[in-house]
Amino acid sequence: MSAVIVVHGGVKAKLDERDHASVDGVKAAACDGFAVLKRGGSPLDAVEAAVKAMEDNSVFNAGHGAVLNAEGEVEMDALIMDGKTLSSGAVSSVKGIANPVSLARLVMEKTDHMILTSRGANQFAESLGMTTVPTDSLVTEYERKKWKNTRTYVSELSEEYNTQWAHDTVGAVAVDSVGNVACATSTGGIRCKMAGRVGDAPIIGCGGYADNFSGAVSCSGHGESILKVTLARLILLHVEQGKSVAESSQLALQYMADRVHGAGGCVVVSPSGQWAATFTTKRMVWAAVDHDGLWYGLDPNERFSEQLTV
Ligand code: ASP
Repeated sequence: MSAVIVVHGGVKAKLDERDHASVDGVKAAACDGFAVLKRGGSPLDAVEAAVKAMEDNSVFNAGHGAVLNAEGEVEMDALIMDGKTLSSGAVSSVKGIANPVSLARLVMEKTDHMILTSRGANQFAESLGMTTVPTDSLVTEYERKKWKNTRTYVSELSEEYNTQWAHDTVGAVAVDSVGNVACATSTGGIRCKMAGRVGDAPIIGCGGYADNFSGAVSCSGHGESILKVTLARLILLHVEQGKSVAESSQLALQYMADRVHGAGGCVVVSPSGQWAATFTTKRMVWAAVDHDGLWYGLDPNERFSEQLTV
C-alpha cells in the first residue's frame, strides 16, 4: 500500500478573493507532508509538516493569518494525534505562537497531560525556549479589515451563517505504507468569538481523531456544532461499522446538519489508504497526495488532478 496525505484549508461559505491562494496553499502543504512520508517520516511528522506549512501561510486562519476575537486578540487552538498509540497533545487559547501544532506535539511528547490552555500553554512554550512572536505579527491587513466590518460572532443558526461565515481553519490526516495514521488541526477559531472561547479543534474526537483501528479525521466548521456531535469520532464510528470513509463522513456531517443545524467539512483516511474530503458547507479547500498523484478541489464534486512535483 502506498502512503496518503489529505489536507484541508477550511470550509468556506462564498467566493473569496483568496480562493486561488488557498488552493495553491493546500496543494503545497499536501506535497510538503507527502515528501515527509516519502523519505520515511511518520504520519505524525507528515501532518505536522503539512499543518505548519498552512500556519505559515497567511491565507489560512491558523498561525500567521489567524482571525481576531471580540477583543481584537489572536487566540489559537491546535491538536495532533497519533493513531498508533492514541497519544495526543493539544493547546487552546494560546497567544503569540507561530506554530501552535508544534506546541501541541510538544504537549504530547514532553508532558503527562493532553491539553494545555492559555497562560499555562504559553508558559510551557517559554520553558522549552519556543519563541513567542508579537501578536501583531500574526495579524494580516485582510483580517483587520474583516474584523472591523464584522464585530459580532456569527452563530450557526443565524441568517448570516450561510452568507458570511467563512473560516479557513487547517488540518491534515496521513497514513503510511503499513497503516499507521495521524491527524492534526489548527485554527484561530471563529472571528469575534468571546475571549477564552475554545472550539472543537483542540478537543479529541471533535476537531480530530486518529486510531490505527479505524482511521484519521480532521474537521472544520462551526465549532460548537462539531463539539455537540463529536464529529471526528462519529465519522470513525461509521467506518468501524463497515462503511467507506466517504459515506461515513457524509452520514456524520448530515447528522450534524439535521440534529444541530451545523455545517462543516472533514478530511479522512483509513488505515488501508482510502481517503475522502467531504463538506456540507458551500465549499471547502482541500488537497490530497496518493499513489496516483496530487488531487485538489474547492467546490462540491470538484476533483482536479496533477502530476506529483515531489
Ligand atoms: N472549527 C473552528 C472553530 O470553531 C472553525 C473552523 O473550522 O473554521 O474554532
